[in-house]
Amino acid sequence: MNDSLTIALSKGRIFEETLPLLEQAGITPVDDPETSRKLILDTNQDDVKLVIIRAADVPTYVGYGAADVGVAGKDVLMEHGGRGLYEPLDLKIACCRLMVAGPLGREIKGKRLRIATKYVKSTQRFYADRQEQVEIIKLYGSMELAPLVGLADYIVDVVDTGNTLKANGLAPLEHIADISSRLVVNKASMKMKHARITGFIARLKAACDR
Ligand code: AMP
Repeated sequence: MNDSLTIALSKGRIFEETLPLLEQAGITPVDDPETSRKLILDTNQDDVKLVIIRAADVPTYVGYGAADVGVAGKDVLMEHGGRGLYEPLDLKIACCRLMVAGPLGREIKGKRLRIATKYVKSTQRFYADRQEQVEIIKLYGSMELAPLVGLADYIVDVVDTGNTLKANGLAPLEHIADISSRLVVNKASMKMKHARITGFIARLKAACDR
């Protein structure tokens, strides 16, 4: 049986914080993904490859089985819905909070709020739970700009230190969810490569607990 392992990762913070955990689990990339243009990276283990993709695409690659496992932020998983995936391990890295943010002291009454976000589903769920009708405007980045130019009243975005909000005259207002990166596993791979994947999860877990 083919017991190779393909791991989907995104560049940037998740990659930087996953790398030491992978190394403790015995997996080291041969090329530096931050400088290499390759999208499939070899590792010190012949049958383990890393595929480097956009963060929002990780659940899709793993859900369809194009990668056996991957690392994705809980923010991304909440939007994706988790079809075809197990989420066996909280890696407790790239921690932040999904928040409603906006200008301090702005009172908006008697009109439907406009919320700019790339997290459309999480935002819908948050306001639906409060039985509040809002208009959601989908953006792909630089959400902080929207309230400054009158596109939206508030934004929903991930916040770490809060410095980006502060630099734009905004503040975190309401907490939606705590976010960290999770290991996700394709359901069919878990069945077909059970020993390989459970061994990998156990080694990663040990690395996280260290
Ligand atoms: P900060 O200024 O530290 O609050 O970071 C804010 C910016 O970094 C936000 O605009 C986010 O898009 C991004 N960011 C911070 N933490 C994370 C994370 N864990 N995952 C993804 N994006 C993040």
